[in-house]
Amino acid sequence: QLINIAIDGPAGAGKSTVAREVASRLGFVYIDTGAMYRALTYEALRHQADVHNEEAVMNLLKQMQITLGSEADTGLVLVNGKDVTEEIRFSEVTGNVSYIARHEQVRMEMVRKQQELAKANRTVMDGRDIGTAVLPEAEVKIFLTASVEERARRRHEEQLQKGMPSDYESLITEIAERDRIDSEREVAPLRKAEDAIEVDSTNMTAEEVIESILEIVGK
Ligand code: C5P
Repeated sequence: QLINIAIDGPAGAGKSTVAREVASRLGFVYIDTGAMYRALTYEALRHQADVHNEEAVMNLLKQMQITLGSEADTGLVLVNGKDVTEEIRFSEVTGNVSYIARHEQVRMEMVRKQQELAKANRTVMDGRDIGTAVLPEAEVKIFLTASVEERARRRHEEQLQKGMPSDYESLITEIAERDRIDSEREVAPLRKAEDAIEVDSTNMTAEEVIESILEIVGK
C-alpha cells in the first residue's frame, strides 16, 4: 500500500506546484517542509534573533506551534494560530532561511515533526532531505531539477504576474546562492537519494511533470 511520496530538489524547481497537484489528484496530504523552515525564519527575524545563533533559534522553535493547512488549500501556514502565509515568502525570509536550516538541532526537531505528519497521513512531502533523511523508506522518491536559468525565468514570470518587482539577474544569484548553502551544509545536505528518480523539468510543463510523477507512482 502506497503511503508516502518524497519530492526533493533545488530551489525553484517547481516542487510545491507539482507536489500540491499530485497530492490533490491522489487524495493525499501535501506537506511543504520548506514552509516550516520559513516560518521559523520569519519568527527569528520578527524577534530580531541572530539566525546564526542555534540556541536563540531553538528557543523560538520550542515556543512555536507550526500548523500547515490541510487539503488542496492555498498553502496556509499558521504560527501559534497566526496566519503567516504571505510573510514567509518575503525576500528577507528567503535570504535567511538557508542559515536557519543549517542548525543540527533545528533540523532534528523539524524532521521529528515531519515524520509525525507522515505517520498520521498519506503524504506527498516536498523539501531538500525528504528522501535522504525524513522518509528514507518512502515508497516513491522524486528528485526534481531544472537549469538555474529556467528556474529563475519561471520565478521571474510568477512575480511579474503577481505585480511584484522582479529582477531576473538577482533571481539567478539568489537561487544559486541558496542551492550552494543547502548543498554545502553538514547536516542532511541537498542531495538526490540513491533510489530517487530524477526528473529534469527544464523543458517540461507543470502538467507534464505531474503526469510523469503519477506514472511513476502507478508502476
Ligand atoms: O522549499 P523552499 O524553497 O520554500 O525552502 C526554503 C529553504 O528551507 C531551503 O532553501 C532550505 O534552506 C530549507 N529547507 C531545508 N530542508 C527541507 C525544506 C527546506 O533545509 N526539507
